[in-house]
Amino acid sequence: MCASASADTIILKNGRRIVASNVVEDDDHVSYETPAGRLVLPRSIVARIERNDLSPLSGDENSEAPVSAPSVDVAAGYADIAARAVHDGSVDVSFLAQLETAARSGDDNAIVKVAAAHHAAAQFLIAKGDLASAAEHYRQALTFAPDNVPLLLNLAVVDLRQSEFTAAMEPLEHARRIDPDSADVAKLMGWAYYGANKLDKAVSEWKRAAQIRPDPDVTSALEKAQRDQQEEAGYREGETAHFSLKYSGAAAPDLARAVLHTLENHFRELESQFDYTPPERIGVILYTNQAFADITRAPGWAGAINDGRIRVPVQGLTSVTADLSRVLKHELTHSFVGQKSRGLCPTWLQEGLAQWMEGRRSDESAAALVQIYDHKSAQSFAALEGSWMNLTGDSATYAYAWSLAAVEAIIHDGGMGDIERLLDQIAVTQSTEAALRSTLHIDYSELAHQTVAYLHHEYVR
Ligand SMILES: [Zn+2]
Repeated sequence: MCASASADTIILKNGRRIVASNVVEDDDHVSYETPAGRLVLPRSIVARIERNDLSPLSGDENSEAPVSAPSVDVAAGYADIAARAVHDGSVDVSFLAQLETAARSGDDNAIVKVAAAHHAAAQFLIAKGDLASAAEHYRQALTFAPDNVPLLLNLAVVDLRQSEFTAAMEPLEHARRIDPDSADVAKLMGWAYYGANKLDKAVSEWKRAAQIRPDPDVTSALEKAQRDQQEEAGYREGETAHFSLKYSGAAAPDLARAVLHTLENHFRELESQFDYTPPERIGVILYTNQAFADITRAPGWAGAINDGRIRVPVQGLTSVTADLSRVLKHELTHSFVGQKSRGLCPTWLQEGLAQWMEGRRSDESAAALVQIYDHKSAQSFAALEGSWMNLTGDSATYAYAWSLAAVEAIIHDGGMGDIERLLDQIAVTQSTEAALRSTLHIDYSELAHQTVAYLHHEYVR
């Protein structure tokens, strides 16, 4: 979401860089978009503008689906049934009950209708973000049409979107028995195995999918998985209740054990902070520094990343230092936040929370952040929602500091309870700013204002 928004960097004569969207320049002014309207800078303070496209990269810090979900229609030509199943902003439960009564007779046409109606209800709920209820509708439809492959595929997609990789295997295996040559089944099975850290099986499913039907999406997922597979061929493995770890033979087994122990401690703490438990084991890979750079293709400033699996360079370490422990907690926070928000959490909130959880605070950056805000050049949170992987070192530093300050201010005012409600709302709302308005009753410009007031109160007098 938002990861493909284009962003440019305005470089001021004092050296400061502002990553901005929709930058427009004329002879006297440079302006850019913020949620509060366009901000205008005098041309005289601008050194230059770097134009670039923020296209999504593999190895983004936020976890995201490795492949797209195929759109599979359950019963074409039943638009009238769909329109009667969902109208006036809700699911018509009594209409569904009526269709179910008719379908119990075993009449084929009645069964197609009930499947179409439940599919319409599920799609409506998916759009609202209520994935659990959507899954219920597919399960209910399957009691009438157990071998309906489109229903099975749609149920699997809902499971996968909730990171329920093991649960997704059941409808997928059933669908394969009915339609062994389905490219969609193979594509989704690859996703399920990849999510469950079964790389070899993911690779063979995606190869199978690509053979049945060429799909650029599958090709790029396959390439990434094969890069991982090659690198990890000589790796050793370790597993605990919540983690599955892989590490290069060059890393000491003692270090691997200590990392797992540290991660389990962090897991328990984050579980209580967020009141949430990720449903599946989380994959962690320890790299030598060179392997990390080769595999993740992350920019130089990224110390570790989390693209669904936590990837950490540990070259030269023999024990879990305080720094490594902080990095692990930071990346683990991304897993919790990503899954709790169903992958919809914007980058600024992800990074703000990850830094807050690792123990970072705004004391050193507060004065600079206040000054930038007072000069009306604060970055808008809207522009920080998408991927940061193309940010240069300086703008990344600023983006991290500004996001941490905002999270610190929210937690200072309302505690973790506010964060929890915000994440739950983000999971079911299409826009973060709307979620902010309905839970904390502020918009983005008020969040910036509140953040600066907090920084003044806490650090800058
Ligand atoms: Zn991070």
